[in-house]
Amino acid sequence: MEQTLAGQAALVTGSTSGIGLAIARFLHQSGARVMLNGFGKPEDIAAAQAACGGAPHSPADMSRPEEVRAMVAEAESAFGRLDILVNNAGIQHVSPVEEFPAAKWDAILAINLSSNFHAIAAALPGMRARGHGRIVNIASAHGLVASPFKTAYVAAKHGVVGLTKSVALEVAEAPITCNAVCPGFVRTPLAEAQVPPLAGKHGVSEEAALKDFLLAKQPSKRWIEPEEVARMVLWLVGPDSGGVNGAALSIDGGWLAA
Ligand code: NAD
Repeated sequence: MEQTLAGQAALVTGSTSGIGLAIARFLHQSGARVMLNGFGKPEDIAAAQAACGGAPHSPADMSRPEEVRAMVAEAESAFGRLDILVNNAGIQHVSPVEEFPAAKWDAILAINLSSNFHAIAAALPGMRARGHGRIVNIASAHGLVASPFKTAYVAAKHGVVGLTKSVALEVAEAPITCNAVCPGFVRTPLAEAQVPPLAGKHGVSEEAALKDFLLAKQPSKRWIEPEEVARMVLWLVGPDSGGVNGAALSIDGGWLAA
């Protein structure tokens, strides 16, 4: 891979799995030093670190504001700089709004939305001082349109798109950009976990549940791969995207076009 990010330093939240891990791997392969974050078995975290050139790992819990801010400070001190912040950590819970557990609502808002605010607030002063910064927030197609039974997720992801636009306006005259990426269904544990309950609910095979219910919204009728999202992020943090700011870029197999 071309070393377009040589000399730069990056932090990717929720990068022990799925989309975040693919982004971290691509950033590393493009020459950036990367700090990982997220939960998982020790052996899986070690494997993620090895895949990113022995990258340091922060165990910070994105539901805890003080841990989010301390993680940003730790990355800046480990690398002496922080050029790229990718807010990616996220969780999902599916339930009718009347039965939606309040604790799940709070956790989804904290991890999927508020952690982005805290990480951005902590990272921006250094980016401004050094005169370079790229912030990418992994929102979702659910940041732009809704589905039933995902109230907290949809509210949080719409919030991420709003946060992205507001921050973009604040940094517009600086050599810093803030953009959101809005994937449709991506082949990761977070999305794959939604298939068996759908199959059970509708009394169909998992294959049928995937095609007829989960991917029904995605005209391509196929998963987006984590690496496809990572390639979009790589372009957004690279040298050719300086004019793109405050955008919410879809990568959803045509979902938003329908
Ligand atoms: P995933 O479950 O594979 O990975 C989620 C990552 O977040 C993991 O590394 C996990 O350890 C980490 N994480 C969860 N809670 C955390 C916490 N409290 N503190 C720190 N880390 C935490 O999921 P994914 O599908 O790769 O999702 C990544 C992002 O992409 C999420 O924001 C998700 O909403 C978004 N997204 C996913 C899809 C999809 O279809 N998979 C679609 C659109 C958007």
